[in-house]
Amino acid sequence: MRHRTNQEMSAVWMVKVVGLGLVAISLSVELLGWLGRRLRPRKIRNEVLFFPSEMSCVEHIVNPNSPYTCLCPFPHGVETSFSRLLRILLSASSTLDLCVFAFSNMDLCRAVLALHNKGVIMRVLTDKDYAAITGSQIGVLRKAGICVRCDGGSRGSVYMHHKFAVVDGRLLITGSLNWTLQAVQANMENVLVTEEPDLLRPFIKEFDRLWVCNEPGQHHSLGT
Ligand SMILES: [Zn+2]
Repeated sequence: MRHRTNQEMSAVWMVKVVGLGLVAISLSVELLGWLGRRLRPRKIRNEVLFFPSEMSCVEHIVNPNSPYTCLCPFPHGVETSFSRLLRILLSASSTLDLCVFAFSNMDLCRAVLALHNKGVIMRVLTDKDYAAITGSQIGVLRKAGICVRCDGGSRGSVYMHHKFAVVDGRLLITGSLNWTLQAVQANMENVLVTEEPDLLRPFIKEFDRLWVCNEPGQHHSLGT
C-alpha cells in the first residue's frame, strides 16, 4: 500500500473540513429559520364587517355536505359580510358563547344548530322579553338541547342588549348587529372580529359573570 504524501493528506483534510463546514452552515440556517418561526409573534386576526350584507346564497356554507345543488334565486358563490360571519362562526371547534339581544335569523340559527350537532359546547344568553316574541329562534335552540339562559327580566326596562359571541375562547365577534334578518339585510351595522387578547379577555369575563347571574332559580346581584 502506497503511503500518501503530506500534500495528499492535507488535501483530504481540506475536503473534510470544507464538507463539515458546509453541513454546519446548512444546519445553522435551518436552526435560525426554525427559531425565527417560533419567536415571531403569531399574526393576530382582526376583521371588520359592515352590513347590510348583499343578498347571496349561503346554503353551501351552512350545509356543506348537501348532495343537492341549491336552486334558490339568490346569487351563488358570492362572498358577502354575512357569508364571512357565518364562516367565522362555523369555525368553532370546541365552544361557542353567544350573548345576543335578538336572535331570529334562520341561517344563523342553522349554523348554531350545526355546531351543536358537531359537539361544540354552546352557551346562549339572551333577553327574556325578546326570546318570547314571534320569530325568535331561542325556542328552537332550547328544543335542540342547547343551554340557554335568559336575562331575568325582573329589572323593569333593563335589556340584555349585548351582541357578542366568543368562539373557542380565542375569537371575539361583537358590534351593533342583532342576529335578525332585518339587521343583516336592511340595517347599517358593524361587526368587529378580533383575536386581540386584551379585548377578548373582558368579554369572556363578562359572559361568565352574566351566565352565573342568570342561572335559573338563582337571584344573584348583577353588581360588579
Ligand atoms: Zn342557493
